Amino acid sequence: MSQHNSTRSGLVSLALASLALLIGCNAAPQGFAPANNANVRANSAPQLSTMANFEPTFQNSFVSRRPLARTGNSIVKVAYQNNAQASQLAELGMDIWMVTPKYIMGQVNEEVFQRLQMSRLNFSLISPERGISAKNDFDPQYHTYDEMLAELRQVAQQYPQLAKLHDVGDTWQKVNGEGNRDLWALNITGPGDGSQKPGIVFFGNHHARELVTVEIPLILIKHLLEGYGKDPRITELLNTRDVWIVPMVNPDGHVEAEKGANWRKNMNKNDGNRYRGVDLNRNYGHKWNTGGSSNSPSSDTYMGKAPFSEPETQAVRDFVKARPNLKIMMSYHSFSNLILWPWGYTKQRVNNPKLVEMGTKLGQLTGYTPQQAADLYVASGITDDFTFGELGLMSFTTEIGSWGDGFDPPYSRVAQFWNENREAALYLIDSAGKLGR
Ligand SMILES: [Zn+2]
Repeated sequence: MSQHNSTRSGLVSLALASLALLIGCNAAPQGFAPANNANVRANSAPQLSTMANFEPTFQNSFVSRRPLARTGNSIVKVAYQNNAQASQLAELGMDIWMVTPKYIMGQVNEEVFQRLQMSRLNFSLISPERGISAKNDFDPQYHTYDEMLAELRQVAQQYPQLAKLHDVGDTWQKVNGEGNRDLWALNITGPGDGSQKPGIVFFGNHHARELVTVEIPLILIKHLLEGYGKDPRITELLNTRDVWIVPMVNPDGHVEAEKGANWRKNMNKNDGNRYRGVDLNRNYGHKWNTGGSSNSPSSDTYMGKAPFSEPETQAVRDFVKARPNLKIMMSYHSFSNLILWPWGYTKQRVNNPKLVEMGTKLGQLTGYTPQQAADLYVASGITDDFTFGELGLMSFTTEIGSWGDGFDPPYSRVAQFWNENREAALYLIDSAGKLGR
Protein backbone atom coordinates (compact mmCIF):
# COMPACT_ATOMS: atom_id res chain seq x y z
CA MET A 1 0.00 0.00 0.00
CA SER A 2 1.34 3.48 -0.84
CA GLN A 3 2.11 6.05 1.82
CA HIS A 4 -0.64 8.25 0.41
CA ASN A 5 -3.28 5.59 0.77
CA SER A 6 -2.38 4.54 4.28
CA THR A 7 -2.39 8.17 5.46
CA ARG A 8 -5.76 8.78 3.94
CA SER A 9 -7.33 5.64 5.41
CA GLY A 10 -5.91 6.58 8.79
CA LEU A 11 -7.62 9.97 8.58
CA VAL A 12 -10.89 8.43 7.49
CA SER A 13 -10.80 6.03 10.44
CA LEU A 14 -10.17 8.89 12.80
CA ALA A 15 -13.05 10.94 11.40
CA LEU A 16 -15.38 7.98 11.59
CA ALA A 17 -14.36 7.23 15.13
CA SER A 18 -15.24 10.78 16.20
CA LEU A 19 -18.54 10.54 14.37
CA ALA A 20 -19.33 7.33 16.21
CA LEU A 21 -18.44 8.98 19.49
CA LEU A 22 -20.84 11.84 18.77
CA ILE A 23 -23.65 9.51 17.89
CA GLY A 24 -22.93 7.40 20.93
CA CYS A 25 -23.24 10.42 23.20
CA ASN A 26 -26.34 11.99 21.74
CA ALA A 27 -28.62 9.26 20.55
CA ALA A 28 -30.46 6.55 22.43
CA PRO A 29 -30.50 3.87 19.77
CA GLN A 30 -33.56 1.73 19.31
CA GLY A 31 -33.59 -1.55 21.14
CA PHE A 32 -31.17 -0.33 23.76
CA ALA A 33 -33.28 -0.11 26.88
CA PRO A 34 -31.75 1.16 30.12
CA ALA A 35 -30.86 -1.55 32.61
CA ASN A 36 -31.97 0.32 35.72
CA ASN A 37 -35.48 -1.09 35.97
CA ALA A 38 -35.36 -3.83 38.59
CA ASN A 39 -38.90 -4.95 37.80
CA VAL A 40 -38.25 -5.36 34.14
CA ARG A 41 -41.24 -6.96 32.48
CA ALA A 42 -40.49 -10.40 31.16
CA ASN A 43 -41.93 -9.48 27.78
CA SER A 44 -39.95 -6.27 27.33
CA ALA A 45 -37.83 -7.71 24.51
CA PRO A 46 -39.06 -6.81 21.04
CA GLN A 47 -41.20 -9.52 19.45
CA LEU A 48 -40.72 -10.50 15.84
CA SER A 49 -44.14 -9.07 14.93
CA THR A 50 -43.04 -5.63 16.11
CA MET A 51 -39.82 -5.98 14.12
CA ALA A 52 -41.77 -5.90 10.85
CA ASN A 53 -41.12 -2.21 10.24
CA PHE A 54 -37.75 -2.07 11.93
CA GLU A 55 -35.18 -0.27 9.76
CA PRO A 56 -31.69 -1.31 10.78
CA THR A 57 -29.17 1.49 10.39
CA PHE A 58 -25.64 2.25 11.48
CA GLN A 59 -27.01 4.75 14.00
CA ASN A 60 -29.41 2.36 15.76
CA SER A 61 -26.94 -0.52 15.77
CA PHE A 62 -24.46 -1.44 18.46
CA VAL A 63 -21.70 -0.80 15.91
CA SER A 64 -22.19 2.96 16.21
CA ARG A 65 -20.93 2.76 19.78
CA ARG A 66 -17.87 0.60 19.11
CA PRO A 67 -14.37 1.55 18.01
CA LEU A 68 -14.42 1.39 14.21
CA ALA A 69 -11.56 -0.18 12.35
CA ARG A 70 -10.50 -0.89 8.78
CA THR A 71 -10.88 -4.65 9.14
CA GLY A 72 -11.71 -5.47 5.53
CA ASN A 73 -15.12 -6.61 6.74
CA SER A 74 -18.35 -4.82 5.92
CA ILE A 75 -21.63 -4.90 7.81
CA VAL A 76 -24.54 -5.17 5.39
CA LYS A 77 -28.28 -5.63 5.26
CA VAL A 78 -29.86 -7.76 2.56
CA ALA A 79 -33.54 -7.38 1.67
CA TYR A 80 -35.28 -10.50 2.97
CA GLN A 81 -36.88 -12.66 0.29
CA ASN A 82 -37.32 -16.06 1.85
CA ASN A 83 -35.79 -18.56 4.21
CA ALA A 84 -33.89 -20.37 1.44
CA GLN A 85 -32.13 -17.15 0.47
CA ALA A 86 -31.05 -16.63 4.09
CA SER A 87 -29.51 -20.09 4.09
CA GLN A 88 -27.75 -19.35 0.79
CA LEU A 89 -26.26 -16.24 2.35
CA ALA A 90 -24.91 -18.35 5.20
CA GLU A 91 -23.41 -20.78 2.68
CA LEU A 92 -21.95 -17.87 0.72
CA GLY A 93 -20.03 -17.08 3.90
CA MET A 94 -22.09 -14.25 5.35
CA ASP A 95 -21.85 -14.09 9.12
CA ILE A 96 -25.57 -13.57 9.82
CA TRP A 97 -26.24 -11.49 12.92
CA MET A 98 -29.98 -10.96 12.82
CA VAL A 99 -33.01 -11.65 10.68
CA THR A 100 -36.14 -9.47 10.62
CA PRO A 101 -39.17 -9.83 8.34
CA LYS A 102 -37.56 -7.27 6.00
CA TYR A 103 -33.81 -7.71 6.33
CA ILE A 104 -30.96 -10.07 6.97
CA MET A 105 -28.12 -8.27 8.74
CA GLY A 106 -24.59 -9.48 9.14
CA GLN A 107 -20.93 -9.16 8.29
CA VAL A 108 -19.07 -10.14 5.12
CA ASN A 109 -15.41 -10.12 4.18
CA GLU A 110 -14.26 -8.61 0.88
CA GLU A 111 -14.51 -11.93 -0.94
CA VAL A 112 -18.13 -12.45 0.12
CA PHE A 113 -18.90 -8.78 -0.59
CA GLN A 114 -17.86 -9.32 -4.18
CA ARG A 115 -19.99 -12.45 -4.41
CA LEU A 116 -22.93 -10.46 -3.05
CA GLN A 117 -22.42 -7.89 -5.78
CA MET A 118 -22.38 -10.58 -8.45
CA SER A 119 -25.48 -12.22 -7.00
CA ARG A 120 -27.59 -9.15 -7.80
CA LEU A 121 -29.19 -9.45 -4.37
CA ASN A 122 -30.68 -6.24 -3.05
CA PHE A 123 -28.24 -5.24 -0.31
CA SER A 124 -26.77 -2.12 1.22
CA LEU A 125 -24.05 -1.11 3.63
CA ILE A 126 -24.62 -0.59 7.33
CA SER A 127 -20.93 0.05 7.82
CA PRO A 128 -20.20 3.73 7.19
CA GLU A 129 -17.83 2.60 4.46
CA ARG A 130 -16.91 -0.65 2.70
CA GLY A 131 -14.19 -2.51 4.58
CA ILE A 132 -14.90 -0.77 7.85
CA SER A 133 -16.44 -2.55 10.80
CA ALA A 134 -16.21 -2.55 14.55
CA LYS A 135 -13.76 -4.03 16.96
CA ASN A 136 -15.35 -5.65 19.96
CA ASP A 137 -15.42 -3.84 23.24
CA PHE A 138 -14.31 -5.89 26.19
CA ASP A 139 -15.76 -4.14 29.22
CA PRO A 140 -13.28 -5.10 31.96
CA GLN A 141 -16.16 -6.25 34.15
CA TYR A 142 -16.62 -9.25 31.86
CA HIS A 143 -14.75 -12.38 32.94
CA THR A 144 -11.61 -13.30 31.09
CA TYR A 145 -10.90 -17.03 30.76
CA ASP A 146 -8.49 -16.81 33.71
CA GLU A 147 -10.99 -14.93 35.85
CA MET A 148 -13.73 -17.42 35.01
CA LEU A 149 -11.52 -20.34 36.00
CA ALA A 150 -10.50 -18.62 39.24
CA GLU A 151 -14.14 -18.04 40.08
CA LEU A 152 -15.13 -21.63 39.33
CA ARG A 153 -12.30 -22.89 41.56
CA GLN A 154 -13.32 -20.48 44.28
CA VAL A 155 -16.99 -21.53 44.38
CA ALA A 156 -16.06 -25.23 44.25
CA GLN A 157 -13.89 -24.59 47.30
CA GLN A 158 -16.51 -22.50 49.07
CA TYR A 159 -19.34 -25.00 48.51
CA PRO A 160 -17.66 -28.43 48.64
CA GLN A 161 -20.93 -30.16 49.57
CA LEU A 162 -22.72 -28.83 46.50
CA ALA A 163 -20.26 -28.07 43.72
CA LYS A 164 -17.47 -29.96 41.96
CA LEU A 165 -15.32 -28.66 39.15
CA HIS A 166 -14.44 -30.96 36.24
CA ASP A 167 -11.98 -30.52 33.38
CA VAL A 168 -13.96 -31.97 30.48
CA GLY A 169 -11.55 -31.45 27.60
CA ASP A 170 -8.84 -29.46 25.86
CA THR A 171 -9.05 -26.60 23.38
CA TRP A 172 -7.51 -26.73 19.89
CA GLN A 173 -4.56 -24.62 21.01
CA LYS A 174 -3.85 -26.90 23.96
CA VAL A 175 -4.00 -30.02 21.80
CA ASN A 176 -1.62 -28.31 19.35
CA GLY A 177 0.85 -27.00 21.90
CA GLU A 178 -0.13 -23.33 21.63
CA GLY A 179 -1.89 -22.86 24.93
CA ASN A 180 -3.05 -24.41 28.16
CA ARG A 181 -6.80 -23.92 28.24
CA ASP A 182 -9.53 -26.41 29.05
CA LEU A 183 -13.30 -26.70 28.96
CA TRP A 184 -14.56 -26.55 32.55
CA ALA A 185 -17.84 -27.95 33.86
CA LEU A 186 -19.21 -27.19 37.30
CA ASN A 187 -21.49 -29.88 38.66
CA ILE A 188 -24.01 -28.67 41.22
CA THR A 189 -26.25 -31.01 43.17
CA GLY A 190 -27.41 -31.62 46.75
CA PRO A 191 -26.77 -34.76 48.85
CA GLY A 192 -26.70 -38.11 47.06
CA ASP A 193 -25.36 -39.47 43.80
CA GLY A 194 -26.01 -36.85 41.13
CA SER A 195 -25.77 -39.39 38.35
CA GLN A 196 -28.91 -41.05 39.75
CA LYS A 197 -30.88 -37.79 39.49
CA PRO A 198 -32.36 -36.30 36.33
CA GLY A 199 -29.82 -33.90 34.88
CA ILE A 200 -29.52 -30.73 32.81
CA VAL A 201 -26.56 -29.02 31.16
CA PHE A 202 -26.10 -25.33 30.33
CA PHE A 203 -23.46 -24.27 27.79
CA GLY A 204 -22.09 -20.76 27.23
CA ASN A 205 -19.82 -19.20 24.65
CA HIS A 206 -19.63 -21.56 21.69
CA HIS A 207 -19.03 -18.26 19.88
CA ALA A 208 -16.10 -16.32 21.28
CA ARG A 209 -17.33 -12.72 20.98
CA GLU A 210 -20.74 -13.44 22.59
CA LEU A 211 -19.53 -12.20 25.94
CA VAL A 212 -22.85 -12.20 27.80
CA THR A 213 -23.14 -15.96 27.32
CA VAL A 214 -20.31 -16.57 29.80
CA GLU A 215 -21.83 -14.27 32.40
CA ILE A 216 -25.35 -15.76 32.50
CA PRO A 217 -24.03 -19.25 33.38
CA LEU A 218 -21.70 -17.75 36.01
CA ILE A 219 -24.57 -15.80 37.58
CA LEU A 220 -26.75 -18.93 37.48
CA ILE A 221 -24.02 -20.79 39.40
CA LYS A 222 -23.98 -18.15 42.15
CA HIS A 223 -27.76 -17.96 42.23
CA LEU A 224 -28.03 -21.71 42.82
CA LEU A 225 -25.19 -22.00 45.34
CA GLU A 226 -26.18 -18.95 47.36
CA GLY A 227 -29.85 -19.91 47.28
CA TYR A 228 -29.35 -23.46 48.55
CA GLY A 229 -30.59 -23.78 52.14
CA LYS A 230 -32.19 -20.33 52.00
CA ASP A 231 -34.61 -20.45 49.09
CA PRO A 232 -36.84 -23.56 49.46
CA ARG A 233 -37.40 -23.79 45.72
CA ILE A 234 -33.68 -23.85 44.91
CA THR A 235 -32.97 -26.24 47.79
CA GLU A 236 -35.58 -28.66 46.47
CA LEU A 237 -34.30 -28.34 42.89
CA LEU A 238 -30.69 -29.09 43.85
CA ASN A 239 -31.70 -31.98 46.11
CA THR A 240 -33.52 -33.65 43.24
CA ARG A 241 -31.63 -32.57 40.10
CA ASP A 242 -28.10 -32.89 38.70
CA VAL A 243 -27.06 -29.52 37.25
CA TRP A 244 -24.02 -29.11 34.98
CA ILE A 245 -22.81 -25.70 33.84
CA VAL A 246 -20.09 -25.13 31.22
CA PRO A 247 -19.72 -21.33 30.99
CA MET A 248 -17.10 -21.29 28.21
CA VAL A 249 -17.02 -23.89 25.41
CA ASN A 250 -14.57 -21.79 23.34
CA PRO A 251 -11.79 -20.48 25.62
CA ASP A 252 -9.21 -19.99 22.82
CA GLY A 253 -11.63 -17.85 20.84
CA HIS A 254 -12.69 -15.99 23.96
CA VAL A 255 -9.10 -14.97 24.67
CA GLU A 256 -9.05 -13.40 21.17
CA ALA A 257 -12.27 -11.54 22.02
CA GLU A 258 -10.68 -10.38 25.26
CA LYS A 259 -8.10 -8.57 23.09
CA GLY A 260 -10.90 -6.75 21.25
CA ALA A 261 -11.18 -9.04 18.21
CA ASN A 262 -14.63 -9.47 16.71
CA TRP A 263 -14.00 -13.22 16.83
CA ARG A 264 -16.57 -16.04 16.53
CA LYS A 265 -14.77 -19.34 15.81
CA ASN A 266 -12.18 -21.41 17.63
CA MET A 267 -8.47 -20.94 16.80
CA ASN A 268 -7.78 -23.93 14.52
CA LYS A 269 -4.97 -23.01 12.11
CA ASN A 270 -6.77 -24.77 9.25
CA ASP A 271 -3.57 -26.36 7.92
CA GLY A 272 -1.81 -23.04 7.46
CA ASN A 273 -4.66 -21.33 5.63
CA ARG A 274 -4.46 -17.56 6.13
CA TYR A 275 -7.85 -17.76 7.87
CA ARG A 276 -8.07 -19.41 11.27
CA GLY A 277 -10.97 -21.01 13.03
CA VAL A 278 -13.85 -23.44 12.76
CA ASP A 279 -17.38 -22.43 13.72
CA LEU A 280 -18.00 -24.77 16.65
CA ASN A 281 -21.76 -24.39 16.20
CA ARG A 282 -21.52 -25.83 12.67
CA ASN A 283 -19.19 -28.72 13.55
CA TYR A 284 -21.52 -31.10 15.43
CA GLY A 285 -22.10 -34.48 13.86
CA HIS A 286 -25.83 -34.68 13.26
CA LYS A 287 -26.66 -33.86 9.61
CA TRP A 288 -23.33 -32.04 9.40
CA ASN A 289 -22.81 -30.14 6.12
CA THR A 290 -26.41 -30.25 4.99
CA GLY A 291 -26.91 -26.51 4.52
CA GLY A 292 -26.33 -23.14 6.13
CA SER A 293 -22.64 -23.64 6.77
CA SER A 294 -19.56 -22.93 4.68
CA ASN A 295 -16.74 -25.21 3.53
CA SER A 296 -14.35 -22.26 3.25
CA PRO A 297 -11.95 -21.59 6.14
CA SER A 298 -12.29 -17.86 5.37
CA SER A 299 -15.94 -17.97 6.43
CA ASP A 300 -17.22 -17.26 9.90
CA THR A 301 -19.54 -20.25 9.49
CA TYR A 302 -16.79 -22.67 8.44
CA MET A 303 -18.00 -26.18 9.28
CA GLY A 304 -14.53 -27.73 9.68
CA LYS A 305 -12.98 -30.64 7.79
CA ALA A 306 -15.27 -33.30 9.27
CA PRO A 307 -18.03 -33.64 11.84
CA PHE A 308 -16.51 -33.33 15.30
CA SER A 309 -13.13 -32.38 13.86
CA GLU A 310 -12.59 -29.93 16.74
CA PRO A 311 -11.40 -30.81 20.26
CA GLU A 312 -14.04 -28.48 21.71
CA THR A 313 -17.03 -30.19 20.04
CA GLN A 314 -15.47 -33.59 20.79
CA ALA A 315 -15.34 -32.58 24.46
CA VAL A 316 -19.00 -31.53 24.48
CA ARG A 317 -20.00 -34.72 22.63
CA ASP A 318 -18.11 -36.99 25.03
CA PHE A 319 -19.31 -35.08 28.07
CA VAL A 320 -22.98 -35.39 27.16
CA LYS A 321 -22.69 -39.01 25.97
CA ALA A 322 -21.04 -40.06 29.22
CA ARG A 323 -23.98 -38.77 31.28
CA PRO A 324 -27.16 -40.61 30.35
CA ASN A 325 -29.04 -38.89 33.18
CA LEU A 326 -28.99 -35.59 31.23
CA LYS A 327 -32.48 -34.73 29.97
CA ILE A 328 -32.14 -31.11 28.87
CA MET A 329 -29.51 -28.98 27.11
CA MET A 330 -29.49 -25.17 26.93
CA SER A 331 -26.89 -23.33 24.84
CA TYR A 332 -26.56 -19.57 25.30
CA HIS A 333 -25.71 -17.36 22.34
CA SER A 334 -26.20 -13.71 21.42
CA PHE A 335 -27.95 -11.77 19.98
CA SER A 336 -31.54 -11.39 18.68
CA ASN A 337 -33.87 -12.08 21.66
CA LEU A 338 -34.80 -15.57 20.48
CA ILE A 339 -35.56 -19.01 21.84
CA LEU A 340 -34.69 -21.71 19.28
CA TRP A 341 -35.15 -25.47 19.14
CA PRO A 342 -34.33 -28.19 16.60
CA TRP A 343 -34.23 -28.64 13.81
CA GLY A 344 -31.60 -26.28 12.49
CA TYR A 345 -30.70 -28.33 9.44
CA THR A 346 -34.21 -28.56 8.01
CA LYS A 347 -37.42 -26.56 7.96
CA GLN A 348 -39.35 -29.80 8.37
CA ARG A 349 -41.34 -29.60 11.61
CA VAL A 350 -39.78 -31.35 14.56
CA ASN A 351 -41.96 -34.24 15.62
CA ASN A 352 -41.98 -33.62 19.36
CA PRO A 353 -44.86 -31.63 20.90
CA LYS A 354 -43.15 -31.50 24.31
CA LEU A 355 -40.10 -29.79 22.83
CA VAL A 356 -42.26 -27.14 21.16
CA GLU A 357 -44.34 -26.70 24.31
CA MET A 358 -41.22 -26.14 26.42
CA GLY A 359 -39.70 -23.77 23.86
CA THR A 360 -42.91 -21.75 23.78
CA LYS A 361 -42.88 -21.58 27.57
CA LEU A 362 -39.27 -20.36 27.49
CA GLY A 363 -40.43 -17.64 25.11
CA GLN A 364 -43.06 -16.50 27.61
CA LEU A 365 -40.60 -16.53 30.51
CA THR A 366 -37.86 -14.59 28.71
CA GLY A 367 -40.02 -12.35 26.52
CA TYR A 368 -37.99 -13.56 23.53
CA THR A 369 -39.48 -14.88 20.28
CA PRO A 370 -39.76 -18.70 20.31
CA GLN A 371 -39.33 -20.63 17.06
CA GLN A 372 -37.78 -23.65 15.39
CA ALA A 373 -34.16 -22.75 14.60
CA ALA A 374 -34.47 -23.30 10.84
CA ASP A 375 -37.33 -20.79 10.68
CA LEU A 376 -34.65 -18.15 11.07
CA TYR A 377 -32.40 -19.77 8.47
CA VAL A 378 -31.22 -23.30 7.91
CA ALA A 379 -27.97 -24.10 9.70
CA SER A 380 -26.50 -27.58 10.07
CA GLY A 381 -24.00 -29.00 12.53
CA ILE A 382 -25.48 -27.12 15.48
CA THR A 383 -25.33 -28.26 19.09
CA ASP A 384 -29.08 -28.68 19.52
CA ASP A 385 -29.52 -30.92 16.50
CA PHE A 386 -26.86 -33.26 17.91
CA THR A 387 -28.02 -33.39 21.53
CA PHE A 388 -31.66 -33.76 20.47
CA GLY A 389 -31.24 -35.78 17.29
CA GLU A 390 -28.63 -38.26 18.53
CA LEU A 391 -29.15 -38.31 22.29
CA GLY A 392 -32.78 -37.29 22.78
CA LEU A 393 -32.19 -34.33 25.12
CA MET A 394 -34.75 -31.55 25.05
CA SER A 395 -32.45 -28.99 23.44
CA PHE A 396 -32.63 -25.22 23.17
CA THR A 397 -30.63 -22.17 22.17
CA THR A 398 -31.22 -18.74 23.69
CA GLU A 399 -30.07 -15.69 21.70
CA ILE A 400 -29.60 -12.93 24.29
CA GLY A 401 -29.72 -9.20 23.53
CA SER A 402 -30.90 -6.89 20.74
CA TRP A 403 -29.55 -5.14 17.64
CA GLY A 404 -28.62 -2.25 19.93
CA ASP A 405 -26.67 -4.60 22.23
CA GLY A 406 -24.72 -6.65 19.72
CA PHE A 407 -22.18 -9.17 20.94
CA ASP A 408 -20.42 -7.02 23.52
CA PRO A 409 -22.80 -4.66 25.32
CA PRO A 410 -21.61 -2.67 28.34
CA TYR A 411 -21.51 -4.97 31.36
CA SER A 412 -24.28 -2.89 32.96
CA ARG A 413 -26.73 -4.64 30.58
CA VAL A 414 -26.04 -8.05 32.13
CA ALA A 415 -28.40 -7.42 35.07
CA GLN A 416 -31.34 -7.10 32.73
CA PHE A 417 -30.30 -10.14 30.69
CA TRP A 418 -30.18 -12.18 33.89
CA ASN A 419 -33.64 -10.86 34.83
CA GLU A 420 -34.92 -12.07 31.48
CA ASN A 421 -33.29 -15.51 31.74
CA ARG A 422 -33.49 -16.42 35.44
CA GLU A 423 -36.99 -17.92 35.50
CA ALA A 424 -36.36 -19.76 32.23
CA ALA A 425 -33.26 -21.44 33.68
CA LEU A 426 -35.09 -22.50 36.86
CA TYR A 427 -38.02 -23.74 34.79
CA LEU A 428 -35.64 -25.94 32.78
CA ILE A 429 -33.95 -27.35 35.90
CA ASP A 430 -37.39 -28.19 37.27
CA SER A 431 -38.49 -29.70 33.96
CA ALA A 432 -35.52 -32.10 33.92
CA GLY A 433 -37.31 -34.09 36.63
CA LYS A 434 -40.67 -34.09 34.88
CA LEU A 435 -39.87 -35.66 31.55
CA GLY A 436 -40.14 -39.29 32.64
CA ARG A 437 -37.72 -42.17 32.15
ZN1 LIG B 1 -23.62 -17.62 18.64
